[in-house]
This record gives sequence, C-alpha cells and structure tokens, in this order.
Amino acid sequence: MTIKDKLDLIHQRIQNALIRAGRQSENITLIGVTKQVDTTVIQEAVSNGLVELGENRVQELLSKYDQVIGANWHMIGRLQRNKVKYIVDKAAMIHSLDRLSLAREINRQAEKIQRVMPVLVQVNIANEESKAGLPYEEVVPFVESLFNLRYIRVMGLMQIAPFMDDQELIRPYFTRMKRLFDDLRQYNYPHTDIRYLSMGMTNDFETAIEEGANMIRIGTAIFGDRKKEEN
Ligand SMILES: *Cc1c(COP(=O)(O)O)cnc(C)c1O
Repeated sequence: MTIKDKLDLIHQRIQNALIRAGRQSENITLIGVTKQVDTTVIQEAVSNGLVELGENRVQELLSKYDQVIGANWHMIGRLQRNKVKYIVDKAAMIHSLDRLSLAREINRQAEKIQRVMPVLVQVNIANEESKAGLPYEEVVPFVESLFNLRYIRVMGLMQIAPFMDDQELIRPYFTRMKRLFDDLRQYNYPHTDIRYLSMGMTNDFETAIEEGANMIRIGTAIFGDRKKEEN
C-alpha cells in the first residue's frame, strides 16, 4: 500500500468510528507521528494532505522542521526545560505539559518572542510508572495553578493509554479522560480555551474516537513499524 492508500484507509476508519459514536458531523484532527521516518516519506504524506505532524524528540523535530515543507509540528514527547527555547517558535502545540517548572519555562520563552503558546496537559490516566503525565486528580489544580502564566494557553488534554489488545479494557481510560475534558471546558478558566482531546494511537484510535477524542496521533498505521523505543 502507498502512503495515500494508508491515509485513505485511516480516514475511512475514523469516519466509521464517528458514525458509531453518533458524531458524524464532527472533525478529527489526525496527527501523523513521524519519529524515525525519513523526510522524503514524510513529504509524501504531507503532499497527500497530512499536514499536522508529531515528534517526540526535540532534535528530530528541529531537523525535520527545516526539511519538510508545509507541515505544522506538534511536540508530543517528554520535554526537558532546557530544550523549550529551541521549539517555542516552531511547535504548533506542545502536548506534553506535565509540571509547573516546565510551564514556567514555556511561558518565559514564549514571552520573549511575544507568542501565546498552545499547550495540552498530559494525563497519566492509569498511573503507569513508565509514563509521563499528571495523575488524574492533579489535573484541575494544575490547570488552576497556571492562571498567571499569560503566554501559555491550555487548549486541552493528552494521554497515552495503556497498551492492551483488548479494547474493552482500555475504553474506561478514554471515558474518564472525556469526563475530565468536559469538566475543564465547563470551568472555563480565563487562561484556557479547552478544545482538544488528544488521545488514540494506532492500537486504539477507534475506541478513543468512540469515547470522544477529537485529535489522534498515528505513527505505525501510516508509516509502518519503528525500531523499538521508549515513550
Ligand atoms: C509514537 C507515539 C504515537 C504514535 O504511536 P503509534 O502506535 O505508532 O501510532 C503517539 N503518541 C505519542 C506520544 C508517541 O510517542
């Protein structure tokens, strides 16, 4: 299958999941996760309409940023404070905000270039030790604590669900995230504009959409298997 065939298939699966959820009028933002993918292949995907791209390493994002034309880059991986300055003018959104020290640094660097940086708060919904993100209970107080960081705008939530084949075991994690997302939207804090629920990957995106995701991050189903690596 070509990249175009794979993208067509994913869009079909997205539509079917939306229909099952009774959400056929809604849009899902598809982010192509390009870690370890060659830039010529990435460019082919962009030419076929995949313009939102995600990287989990700053270094890779930076090198691809200059080589790929016409894409918006999302920072979806663990972010060290000392690397924020390299991406603050390049990332369309940071999906992995999970601590106050990082929020302060994003705010500081964004202020320097007078940009309000869109961010998602990463939630570690299953309290997995191997994963970044805030525990569920800490998310609302964390968002409240950002109120004076004027160069950050919280646009929603992100999670990486536990990896399991049985979708019915994963589903409750998505359902809980959707509830938290709806709560946050209702609170309507002044420094927030809650719109994006970024959850769902190759293994589980249809379940995530059925439970309310509106942004999914897909690597393997578009670009094939990667070498093994940590998240
Ligand atoms: C790698 C990665 C993805 C994509 O995973 P696939 O299973 O290949 O679709 C999504 N989100 C994050 C944060 C990732 O690191």
